[in-house]
Amino acid sequence: MKVIYPGSFDPITKGHMDIIERISDKFDEVVVAVLVNSEKNNLFTLEERKQLIKQEIKDYGLKNVTIESFDGLLIEFAKKIGSKIIVRGLRAISDYEYELQIAHINSKLYEGLETIFLVSKAEYSYISSSVVKEVASYKGDISTFVSENVAEKIMDKLIGG
Ligand code: ADP
Repeated sequence: MKVIYPGSFDPITKGHMDIIERISDKFDEVVVAVLVNSEKNNLFTLEERKQLIKQEIKDYGLKNVTIESFDGLLIEFAKKIGSKIIVRGLRAISDYEYELQIAHINSKLYEGLETIFLVSKAEYSYISSSVVKEVASYKGDISTFVSENVAEKIMDKLIGG
């Protein structure tokens, strides 16, 4: 069974990787689907975001995870790659309302499409890509939130290295 894990991943955090690792253990194939649009608000370009994920997947030794990108409706991407399962992570109640709405809309637009929610591990439940970037912008230590490689790339971007 093939599942889709969609997101912006700007950049990928240890919270995202925890979800990817857990689903790769439970499903035959995981497709990490990186959202193309709203690029102008992102710190990393699409190619950079994909490259960072690729490195993480390699470092975690995950063999059944691939990375793709999509633009527009997620359900069209799901149809294209032949998967009817979307996985999303839930960190807090604040994620829930939005996620529930999107899940309903997606299942209306594509009959039979299921959204599976994985509850974030407690130690990652407060991590978001935007908070990591904010901490980094004040030169705070982000090593517990992202990998060494990702931390380095964030600092390069922010310092202009
Ligand atoms: P989006 O822009 O679609 O919210 P993100 O890249 O922020 O995309 O997140 C992708 C998915 O990963 C979402 O389902 C989000 O809830 C989940 N996620 C984000 N951060 C964490 C975390 N720290 N722990 C678990 N899941 C997370």
